[in-house]
Amino acid sequence: MSRKSIILPKGRRARAGSPWIFSNEIRMDEAAKAIAPGSIVNVRGEDGRAFGTGYFNPKSLIAVRLLADDCDVVVDAEFFAARMTRAMALRDAAYGAPFYRLFHAEGDGVPGLVIDRFGDTVTVQIGTAGMEKQLTAIAMALDAVVKPRTVILRADAPSRSLEGLDSYVKTLKGAGTRIAVEENGVRYVADLSEGQKTGWYYDQRDNRAFIAHFAKGKSVLDAYSYTGGFGLLAAKAGAKEVVCLDSSAPALAIAEESARANGVKIQAVKADVFEELARLKTAEETFDIVLADPPPFVKSKKDLEPGAKAYRKLARLAADVTAPGGILMVASCSHNIPPERFAAECAAGLERTGRRAALIRQAGAGVDHPVHPLLPESAYLKALVYALD
Ligand code: SAH
Repeated sequence: MSRKSIILPKGRRARAGSPWIFSNEIRMDEAAKAIAPGSIVNVRGEDGRAFGTGYFNPKSLIAVRLLADDCDVVVDAEFFAARMTRAMALRDAAYGAPFYRLFHAEGDGVPGLVIDRFGDTVTVQIGTAGMEKQLTAIAMALDAVVKPRTVILRADAPSRSLEGLDSYVKTLKGAGTRIAVEENGVRYVADLSEGQKTGWYYDQRDNRAFIAHFAKGKSVLDAYSYTGGFGLLAAKAGAKEVVCLDSSAPALAIAEESARANGVKIQAVKADVFEELARLKTAEETFDIVLADPPPFVKSKKDLEPGAKAYRKLARLAADVTAPGGILMVASCSHNIPPERFAAECAAGLERTGRRAALIRQAGAGVDHPVHPLLPESAYLKALVYALD
């Protein structure tokens, strides 16, 4: 069966090199509509010009995600193995230990596919119909390149519904989902099937290390701590007191387990962050270092205004409990709020406290979360660190 083609009458985005082609940019005729969701297609201009190989979903707003710049590229286990070898070399050079995000979707040339590696265990997140069809090829590539003992498939991202996909979690190979993550010299516990997303947030690795520089002898409030990524490293770096604050009891239980395993002490507090910050303010309790790394407040474009306000309020409340001369970090993992807007909201929140703030770090995720240069949305993480007077 020969490969079907998707025709671009205008094709501005594809011409500009973006890996996304929207449904209103292609010729969506009967022939296109008849192509099964997730099929590999060639993308061509009306004049026959080749724009590349991608996968197609007539049901999705992003109709084509490009995998390669040439037409007729074979997408098979070898294709994925080649991309994986390259991605792995970059991570191995940067980290020197097999704990990292191995594939970061468009940033690594594999739209819709995220793979996190925890030694000989990997989690595979599939977000699109096109990638779902490649699962066997991806598993073969993993066996050839990474040779993992355990492979867990997390097919449960909410965005899958936009692609007409159902939600499930499945062990493809091996057994055991409780593993150790080595990062910045700490051995954390992670639960890869019960935990959130792939069970561990590698994206904050460099920001955790940055914060740890200031931690010795200090009190630390790790708000939205999840399993203690920031708090435990701060404790290990010599913080005198670390409070991990989260609404999830299972996440806090893992943070406590990790703390014991690392021979450090943390205090786990289960509460809503906004309520707890207000309570701390009333009680006039402060911390030398305050970290606020919330879940996305701007889940979709229509949430921008309320979400932006929530970041502003968070910055204000978090600054209120930061001790004089302290350090405050506010982060956002919403790709739907641009960095300038997020920074402006944090600045407005800090302004309200009347404290002078110096911005000492503006960072995103680490090397293992590469950004597609023509897809700014793939740089979703924003972390701002301030030194407060
Ligand atoms: N800082 C973490 C990641 C945070 S993820 C790390 O470095 O790994 C966001 C966390 O916010 C989740 O653990 C979630 O349980 C928690 N959360 C969500 N809403 C909350 C709320 N209203 N109050 C407290 N925690 C909340």
